Amino acid sequence: MATQRTLSIIKPDATNRNLTGAINAKFEEAGLRIVAQKRIRLSRDQAGAFYAVHKERPFYDELCEFMCSAPVVVQVLEGENAIAMNRDVMGATNPAEAADGTIRKEYALSIGENSVHGSDAEETAKQEIAFFFSELEIVG
Ligand code: ADP
Ligand code: MG
Repeated sequence: MATQRTLSIIKPDATNRNLTGAINAKFEEAGLRIVAQKRIRLSRDQAGAFYAVHKERPFYDELCEFMCSAPVVVQVLEGENAIAMNRDVMGATNPAEAADGTIRKEYALSIGENSVHGSDAEETAKQEIAFFFSELEIVG
């Protein structure tokens, strides 16, 4: 299994409830390393561009409004099989379906306000990391 990098976002529902540290402890316990990190407030346009893949979905506007409603923490996680590992630690999109011990099971408020984002494949990880970070900002 190769070392990978993946994009993680701690979403507004979690930053609002001061859960940044608790969520990052889950990643670190799973062996993922935070190799880049910044707290930012997305504009509506940035949120729309980041989630452009979901443009036709009924929840797109609600998702974009939510993502720019408060600060987010964007970060790059690195480790063995990091893309799938991050998705495992996050849990299912809908917290009602998320496994015990996952971030979404413990912290998510709803299917929309579900505390974390994680890239879903190698190509999207590369694109999503480049959306927020230059190579100089990623220190492994
Ligand atoms: P994931 O974040 O698990 O990869 P998706 O890529 O399918 O899930 O969806 C992106 C985000 O859109 C979700 O994390 C969630 O915040 C929001 N979302 C997904 N489905 C719904 C829904 N049915 N209603 C409201 N928001 C949704
Ligand atoms: Mg997704």
